[in-house]
Amino acid sequence: MKKAVKNRLVRYSVMTVILGLTLYLALGFGKHSFEAFCPFGGMESLWGLFTVGQFSCALAPLNLSMMVGVLALTLLTKKSFCGWACPIGFLGELGARFTGLFWKKRPQPSPQVNGALKLLRYVVLALALYFTYKTGELILRGYDPFYLIFSGFGHGSAGVVSYIVLAALVAGALAVPMFFCRYLCPLGAVFDPFSRLGIVKIVRNDTLCTQCDACQKACPHDLAPQKMIQVRHRDCTNCLECVDACPVKGALELKATF
Ligand code: SF4
Ligand code: SF4
Repeated sequence: MKKAVKNRLVRYSVMTVILGLTLYLALGFGKHSFEAFCPFGGMESLWGLFTVGQFSCALAPLNLSMMVGVLALTLLTKKSFCGWACPIGFLGELGARFTGLFWKKRPQPSPQVNGALKLLRYVVLALALYFTYKTGELILRGYDPFYLIFSGFGHGSAGVVSYIVLAALVAGALAVPMFFCRYLCPLGAVFDPFSRLGIVKIVRNDTLCTQCDACQKACPHDLAPQKMIQVRHRDCTNCLECVDACPVKGALELKATF
């Protein structure tokens, strides 16, 4: 099998299984709701737990366990949850890959615009936690693509506003790879400091590297592994797209380093 699809095939297989399980739960076949497995629910439940010792709204201990587990995973393998498990990341990646077939040259936001827009995820995080803690309701539901898609615009969605938000997120995902993950995902914002410390990461062999830039072109987050010896960047999901794209055997490897 060509190396260029090997890692992706494994990753997409894992994500297809997780997407299938999420759909299974969303259709009501499982013991738990699909929401029970959302790690961000663990963040949303913290205030209620500290103040009144109760989980807010539909949240449950499983959300908290997921959050703790995923944070530990991030300390170990950076944002691998985003690159290997999250159904929304997977759908966004597939959408961008599909539209990539039609772009002659995909328009790229400048590094300054890209960097500024990434700050939005901290704003979303702050707003989501503030209003959830204040009202005790899962305020993000009406604007959260994960909830809107898998609940079919269920209880807590915000009517026409939710449709507009989801349409805008889909349009964004088709234009900019990993649009929601890059700019708006509050869970990604929670992961950021932990991801910087992640032990298992992409390491570049400077002697072998030819500076061909193929790794950056392949990176869905527009990172530049050719400019780093170790990819410590908070956005790296260890998706291995750069490893697949690198034409030099051994120039990029996944390694445990401190
Ligand atoms: S794709 Fe490989 S050889 Fe090319 S710049 Fe990246 S690490 Fe270096
Ligand atoms: S640097 Fe490599 S592993 Fe990290 S997100 Fe980009 S393509 Fe994926």
